[in-house]
Amino acid sequence: MNHVTHFVGGKPWEHGSARQGEIFNPATGKVSGRVDFASAADVDAVVTVAAQAGRAWRDASLAKRTSVLFAVRQLVHERRDEIAALITAEHGKVLSDAAGEVQRGLEIIEYACGIPSTIRGGFSENVSTEVDSYSIRQPLGVVAVISPFNFPAMVPLWFVPIAIAAGNAVVLKPSEKDPSAATLLAQLFAEAGLPDGVFNVVHGDREAVDALLDHPTVKAVSFVGSTPIAKYVYERGTANGKRVQALGGAKNHMVVLPDADLDLAADAAVNAGFGSAGERCMAISVVVAVDPVGDTLVDKISSRMAGIRTGDGLRGCDMGPLVTRQHLEKVTSYVDAGVSAGATAVVDGRGVEADGEGDGFWLGPTLFDHVTPEMSIYTDEIFGPVLSVVRVRTYDEALALVNANPYGNGTAIFTNDGGAARRYQHEVEVGMIGVNVPIPVPMAYYSFGGWKASLFGDSHAHGAEGVHFFTRGKVVTSRWLDPSHGGINLGFPTQQ
Ligand code: NAD
Repeated sequence: MNHVTHFVGGKPWEHGSARQGEIFNPATGKVSGRVDFASAADVDAVVTVAAQAGRAWRDASLAKRTSVLFAVRQLVHERRDEIAALITAEHGKVLSDAAGEVQRGLEIIEYACGIPSTIRGGFSENVSTEVDSYSIRQPLGVVAVISPFNFPAMVPLWFVPIAIAAGNAVVLKPSEKDPSAATLLAQLFAEAGLPDGVFNVVHGDREAVDALLDHPTVKAVSFVGSTPIAKYVYERGTANGKRVQALGGAKNHMVVLPDADLDLAADAAVNAGFGSAGERCMAISVVVAVDPVGDTLVDKISSRMAGIRTGDGLRGCDMGPLVTRQHLEKVTSYVDAGVSAGATAVVDGRGVEADGEGDGFWLGPTLFDHVTPEMSIYTDEIFGPVLSVVRVRTYDEALALVNANPYGNGTAIFTNDGGAARRYQHEVEVGMIGVNVPIPVPMAYYSFGGWKASLFGDSHAHGAEGVHFFTRGKVVTSRWLDPSHGGINLGFPTQQ
């Protein structure tokens, strides 16, 4: 039985915990380990360790910080299979998908290796006679990262490498459902030479999150998770004077125009709808079929779904289980609700014959046609392998549907008309847009984030916005005095 505890000051926590949670292997349905839940007092002790380490780390040279990050990059690369295996064992996603997540995380580490360029300020000589002005960006101190279950390595890596490269100390609170990858990452940072206490992991639930949100030493919070919790974290964190970016849930629409290549669109809908069992914040959950493509598109999608193998992520299947039994029950209840509401269940994943143990949290890929905007399968984020097709008559109706949705994380348009695609990217109220690309996740050097109920705060993750989030600016105005600068003048300083 795996016992996962906090990682603090460069080593596993030695003080135990009054409360613990169970970790499941979703492919077997069995408990595979236990994870310690931090109390508010534990969090206070961890933040104190981080603050002390952070005071020295902020003074480490850029050369020192980048040398550590290059070493982290090497270690994560060498151990990527081990990290991926941990993800599959606790999250359930298939091994190739877990490896892909580690790869996307590596790209952020590589971006963070370039911190000397991205943190650079500006300099203006002679803003006034013999007066220079320059800007610098400095770390915040201790920052907290709170991450969701669905990307146990990649989402922490959206933030941690950049925060550390910028000179901060980090306390990461990963999801209690699949906590092991985060702990391994912290060990690898330590092995790479990061000073003890700069990167700490506390495990737990709401008690640990609240303690971080209320702790006066924590200066910023990067949160990723569901919209209600994102809103709560944003409101409580900012009320306590912290800088907060809180990325929330999603309902991502893929609009298919009549001139699109319907085979490519069907491939994309299946890949983006059912990859990682739909447990991706950038998963496509709604296909908006613009007349007259509906019938053909639904046929093409459903015929492709017949080839999807659902089963244990270690057995070369296409799609793994859902993360917990509770989540399986919730997603299944949405399928029940879709049928009751009158949507056409073209493919019904309930009772799927999975290639795995009987008690695994299985639900096969499910396709609903003739979904309407008031049905709960349309209004709610399901976060499972359930794809809904909504039929509309025109581009304008498609756009109005997407823009009326409260979420605004990602969207895609499939078309061969460049003008229509350009119009969509201009008019749609969503943060990340794909043109013939179903999951338009920005690369590390751009920033990731949605609009509306998909993001609370004004900073997206990684890229230039990430560097900006984890630093604060100073502007220095400097004059090296000589006797000609003397004299009294109480007027407002003006350029001379
Ligand atoms: P969640 O909101 O349940 O949990 C996220 C984090 O918050 C976890 O660390 C959890 O321990 C903590 N938490 C849970 N309940 C809490 C509470 N009441 N008070 C304080 N903290 C609490 O999310 P999840 O189920 O782990 O992840 C799935 C969700 O994350 C989906 O909604 C998905 O869309 C979203 N997500 C969004 C993005 C994005 O970039 N916008 C990326 C990945 C996942």
